[in-house]
Amino acid sequence: MNIKTQGVLVLAVLVLAVTSIGTAQAKSEGLVTIYSSRKEHLIKPLFESFTKDTGIKVMYLTGKGGALIERLKLEGKNTKADMFMTVDAGNLWYAATQGLFQAVQTQTLESNIPSHLRDPKGLWTGLSVRARTIVYSTERVNPADLSTYENLADAKWANRLCLRTSKKIYTKSLVASMIYHHGKNKAGDIISGWVNNLAATPNAKDSHVMNAIVSGQCDVGLVNTYYFARLIAKRPNVPLRLFWANQDTTGVHVNVSGAGVTKYAPNAKGAIKLLEWLSSAKAQAIYASLNKEYPANQNIAEDEVVSSWGSFKQDKMNLTQAGVLQADAVKLMQTKDYR
Ligand code: FE
Repeated sequence: MNIKTQGVLVLAVLVLAVTSIGTAQAKSEGLVTIYSSRKEHLIKPLFESFTKDTGIKVMYLTGKGGALIERLKLEGKNTKADMFMTVDAGNLWYAATQGLFQAVQTQTLESNIPSHLRDPKGLWTGLSVRARTIVYSTERVNPADLSTYENLADAKWANRLCLRTSKKIYTKSLVASMIYHHGKNKAGDIISGWVNNLAATPNAKDSHVMNAIVSGQCDVGLVNTYYFARLIAKRPNVPLRLFWANQDTTGVHVNVSGAGVTKYAPNAKGAIKLLEWLSSAKAQAIYASLNKEYPANQNIAEDEVVSSWGSFKQDKMNLTQAGVLQADAVKLMQTKDYR
C-alpha cells in the first residue's frame, strides 16, 4: 500500500466514524457500508440515487482491491462492511475463496443479471460488463484480416502485435478463458504464437497498447473497450478501431465489475436491497455509462458512445472460471514466456 492509499483509507475511516455517530439513532437497515476498489466518481452518483429512492444511507471506503480484501480478512466478524465491490471476476472469485462473502440468491438478481455474470452459489454478482477485444490501426490493418484472439497467434501478425502484461488480472482472466475453451495444450500454443508475434515487451496499461499502435510500433492489440472510449473522447480522430473478436466462435471475452454481500455484514438486509437496486434498470443505465462499460442487465440500452461501436456476441463462459483457472493461466504464461 502506498502512502496516498493509506491517506485515503484513514480519511475514509474518519468519515465512517463521524457518520456512525451522526446516525446512531437510525435503525441498522438505515445504513449500508461498502468497501470499494471502484473509484469514488464511479459509485457516488449511484449511492446518492439509492439513498434518494430508499432512504437508506450509504457509507463507502475506497482503496486498492487487494488492501480491502486484507482488511476484510483482518476485521473478520467485527467488520463494518456490508458489501465489497471490485473489478474482474478473478478478484471477486478470490474474495469468495477467502470466505469473505455470503450467498445471496434472489429472484430479482436472477432475472436482472444473466447467470454467466454471477457466481453460481450467489457469492457475488456482476454489475457492469467490460468487453476485452481487438483494437487495430485503421492505417495498416484491413479488418477483413481480423477474426479471433486465436488468429492473433498466426505468423501473419509477426512483429505487429502489442499486448498488456501477463501480471494484470485482465490478461489472466482472458487466458483462463482460452484454457476453458481449448484446454491447456492448445491454449499454450496460442500464447506461444502471441509471444512470437509481439512487436514490443508487453505494456503496463491498455492505454499504452493503444499508444503503441498509434505510434506505429505495432498494428493490433487487445484492450478493454472503456479505455478506447477514454482515448476517443480526447482524440476523436485517432486512427484506431475496435473489432469484435470471435463472433463466429466463442464470442468476445467479457468480464465484470461486481459486488458481494460480506459474510459478517452487520446489515445484510440493507446490502441485499442495494445489490438488487444496483441490478435495476435505473441503476444499470447510470453505472454502465459512468465508465463507458456495458450494462450487466441486458434489457438496458447502452451508452450512446458505446452503442456506436455496434453490438456483439459475448462469451457465455461462467466467470467463476476466470478464477478457477487463474493459477493455470499464470503458470501457462510463465511457461510460454509471456511476461
Ligand atoms: Fe481497467
